[in-house]
Amino acid sequence: MEQKRLIIAIDGFSSTGKSTVSRILAARLGYTYIDTGAMYRAVTLHATREGILRDGNVDDERLSRALEAITLEFKNGEIYLDGESVEEEIRGLAVSGNVSLIAAFANVREKLVAWQREMGRKGGVVMDGRDIGSVVFPGADVKFFLTADPATRARRRHEEMVGKGEPVSMEEVEANVRQRDRLDSTRAVGPLKKTADAIEIDTSEMTIEEEVELMLNVIHARYASGD
Ligand code: C5P
Repeated sequence: MEQKRLIIAIDGFSSTGKSTVSRILAARLGYTYIDTGAMYRAVTLHATREGILRDGNVDDERLSRALEAITLEFKNGEIYLDGESVEEEIRGLAVSGNVSLIAAFANVREKLVAWQREMGRKGGVVMDGRDIGSVVFPGADVKFFLTADPATRARRRHEEMVGKGEPVSMEEVEANVRQRDRLDSTRAVGPLKKTADAIEIDTSEMTIEEEVELMLNVIHARYASGD
């Protein structure tokens, strides 16, 4: 365990608690946590601000140019777009409502996947998203796939957003969660998919701590010998 710095892939549906669990798991292992959803969200925010995305229409060419021009960085677990922390802003419904549209563009995925591979190359990472085990790191050392029933997911997301002061209704949140699942699962490039070697965890009835313990047990059972 000490010697080998693993790549741990955590994929799954929206609002299954992936990011919370991944963050804690990374801290427990002394690894870096990489929230790939934040990257797609930041690109979406940029496209919205610049008018590249307007009324559900995307200007392909300008989006391609923007991908070459923008910088994305993680500092202290927060995402920065061109040097500005956008961690809060990317979580709102305005971004959530459009992110799956932007994430379906092949050039967006190509760019972000390349960057994610570079960040995880040396191991010692917990990376969460939709295509980590299938596309970004098909050879990841351990893969988890999280699920939870849609109502539980909507309730969790709603609590989180209301807790942050965003006045959204449960119906809006649930509609968004369902819409993203549909778009993310059916897109042509890098769709959300459970790979055959991923361990599926239904988190509906589990606490965060139980999820983390389960994952740590799997990781230790597989890599306890340190090889
Ligand atoms: O993980 P999170 O819910 O923040 O992701 C937001 C959106 O980003 C997803 O609904 C999906 O459209 C996109 N995404 C993706 N591939 C990833 C991570 C996120 O397409 N690896």
